[in-house]
Amino acid sequence: MPKYLLSFLFLCLFSFQLFGQKKPNIIIFMIDDMGWQDTSYPFANEKSDFNKLYHTPNMERLAKIGVAFTDAYSTPVCTPTRVSLITGMNASKHHVTNWTAPMKDKPTGNQDNQMQEPVWNHNGMSPEPNIPHTIYATALPQILKDHGYFTIHAGKAHWASAGTPGSNPYSLGFTVNIAGTSTGRPASYWGEDNFGRTGSDYHAVENLQEYFGQNINLTEALTREALKTLEFPVKNHIPFFLNFCHYALHDPLMEDHRFIQKYIDKGMSSNEAKYASMIVGMDKSLGDVLDFLEKNKIEDETYLVFISDNGGLSNVPSRDGKPYTHNKPLRSGKGSIYEGGIRVPLIIKGNNKDGKNVRNSNPVIIEDMFPTILEIAGIKIPKTVQTIDGISMLKGLKNWKTVTKDRALVFHIPNKWTATDGDGYNYRSAIRKGQYKLIWSLRNDSFELYDLQNDLGEQDNIIQNPGMPSKAEELKLELKSILERNQAPMPKKKNIN
Ligand code: CA
Repeated sequence: MPKYLLSFLFLCLFSFQLFGQKKPNIIIFMIDDMGWQDTSYPFANEKSDFNKLYHTPNMERLAKIGVAFTDAYSTPVCTPTRVSLITGMNASKHHVTNWTAPMKDKPTGNQDNQMQEPVWNHNGMSPEPNIPHTIYATALPQILKDHGYFTIHAGKAHWASAGTPGSNPYSLGFTVNIAGTSTGRPASYWGEDNFGRTGSDYHAVENLQEYFGQNINLTEALTREALKTLEFPVKNHIPFFLNFCHYALHDPLMEDHRFIQKYIDKGMSSNEAKYASMIVGMDKSLGDVLDFLEKNKIEDETYLVFISDNGGLSNVPSRDGKPYTHNKPLRSGKGSIYEGGIRVPLIIKGNNKDGKNVRNSNPVIIEDMFPTILEIAGIKIPKTVQTIDGISMLKGLKNWKTVTKDRALVFHIPNKWTATDGDGYNYRSAIRKGQYKLIWSLRNDSFELYDLQNDLGEQDNIIQNPGMPSKAEELKLELKSILERNQAPMPKKKNIN
């Protein structure tokens, strides 16, 4: 047994003595760029064509033993979501409002003739203070580790840029790291080309040398490694936290050889079939994790959270060609402030006392995971930790219906994520409260108001309808007040002569 595991074992046995009863295990199972419709489990009231086309039997299996949240939100892009999850802060407060570049001090975002991008935390999050352009915060895995959890990160990390402490999962409180770096996508999904480690591409996936040259998909390799690592805490009865973040379904769009043929046989285009095969691959991984819990008889003491980090990439062509999916009935996709960019699939499986085969329509947001997981673990949020914005969803697993219906959820992307503004992209803020959602274009200083209860697709801007100007004014004031309180980065108009 490696030395570090031995010392960890002693620490855990000590914690077990100290804290008494064994704490529940917790798994985050995060998918990258998975849209609300990329599943055979319908999150809308009606089954869509995509729900009928894609096959995700293990998501359906999870929904039968858990609670599906129909109104769950992440942020429009990768890093802000991941930082919110492990800090408990809203993006408008942590100021990591766009994705972080693999190398430090290279802010992502496009240049604009009219707008000046604000100063934001373009190097991501940091567990150490005074690192330029980072949010200094205590990370969720560090708190769990300090309370006796065996903490594992597997897959995509992307919390911070290389050259800063937050880019290394070990510095965020993880005891084991499998393939997590500062990059937000893999160079390749295929073992036969060494997951991209054939040249100098820094997107090549780390730590998976034993699969080089093999006919194996990255999703499968990560699953095998994650489950192999779980054997140690399970055997030694130590509670574990597994942060399992797949690189799939992010581009590059590369087929999963195991599952593509049936989609080609259905007559789908090459790109559509590739995407569908990646969806089945991640669903198979979910099934393997559920099987592992059953086989080891720990399903009742293990919580599992299935979520995506943002909406599906829909309206912008990928590196591999034309768009191959959409999020309809939701409008737009990844990067957008419309629902297609931020509303995500979320299913949580709890223990025996929690809801099963239940749907919950309370609006919830990614920063809620931080207090939820700590409450599951029975850990009081330490006083030294940053002021968090999330609220625990644990009651939501016990048929909690209306507690948060009227809370305000805020979204903020003051950056130029893509070249053209288009369908809700770039320089936007939004607030959702109850059935209404107000969107603020920071470029034009204009507003849109939608009634999500009656217009899920955000097609009908009702801001001028009778009675609505006052509703819009109320939401505008609340949004601006939250952004000001959080000192949110705001873009400015350039001085053009
Ligand atoms: Ca993403």
